[in-house]
Amino acid sequence: MKIFTTKKETETYFANKGEKVTGFVATMGALHQGHISLIKQAQQSTNEVVCSIFVNPTQFNDPKDLEKYPRPIAADINMLEQTGCDVLFNPPVNEMYADNEKWHLNLGDLEHLLEGEFRPGHYQGVTQVVYKLFSIIKPDFAFFGQKDYQQILVINKMVELLNMPVKLVMCPILREDDGLAMSSRNIHLTPFDRENALILSKTLSWAKNNFDSNNISAIKQQAGQMISSQPGVELEYFEIVDGQTLHPVTSESKTVVALVAARVGKTRLIDNVLID
Ligand code: AMP
Repeated sequence: MKIFTTKKETETYFANKGEKVTGFVATMGALHQGHISLIKQAQQSTNEVVCSIFVNPTQFNDPKDLEKYPRPIAADINMLEQTGCDVLFNPPVNEMYADNEKWHLNLGDLEHLLEGEFRPGHYQGVTQVVYKLFSIIKPDFAFFGQKDYQQILVINKMVELLNMPVKLVMCPILREDDGLAMSSRNIHLTPFDRENALILSKTLSWAKNNFDSNNISAIKQQAGQMISSQPGVELEYFEIVDGQTLHPVTSESKTVVALVAARVGKTRLIDNVLID
């Protein structure tokens, strides 16, 4: 696997890719099988797969969260090599950002709903770094996990606004055997938290199995109660919304998604399920 740490060498390498079709997987490292599944999906439909590992400071609104974000780079490189990833881009922060850099993209209300409400500024940071990564790597396809559902909608909006020549592919959520969505943050869960965290995926499955478009508010309410009554779990939101707009479901909605965010012990977790 080629490993690049500077923009220049990465840009030069991909500027000379010729006819190759490139697939890109952006990550913040602390890789798990969820990340690896994106790389495998990319390998199936492209000739060369590039993964980035960059813990992006501008998307963290809590400095403590940024500080304690896991960074096991040697283990990550090993996993990528085992998976047959072709290129890793792993830049330091000063390679990606100049001092006092400004960025604002008009993402509309997608930016302020759900995650945006609880993590103000998060999606400006996400689009800022993904814009830079797309510009450096210029991938033909970029693979993102459904795990961060709202993130895909936001990145899609950015790609449309800026007319970027990349196709986005949404990949399914990988779960542990007991249903917990894989996440780099799961390592912060104590055994007590780990058990309590199962209420999130259980409640999403319950909502999917009991979905009734005429009774969404009752389902939401009951789901919220199920989560809030679990010890050690503090619910931030449980929503059932239109899968494209994240607004309330209407008769025009083509997809419906249930999304949840909660603090389990000291760890903030998100999860979702496509209902319809
Ligand atoms: P992260 O390193 O958390 O920024 O995630 C990098 C990419 O991996 C994003 O596109 C995530 O949506 C995706 N991802 C994270 N967890 C999972 C999972 N459990 N299953 C599938 N994809 C995931």
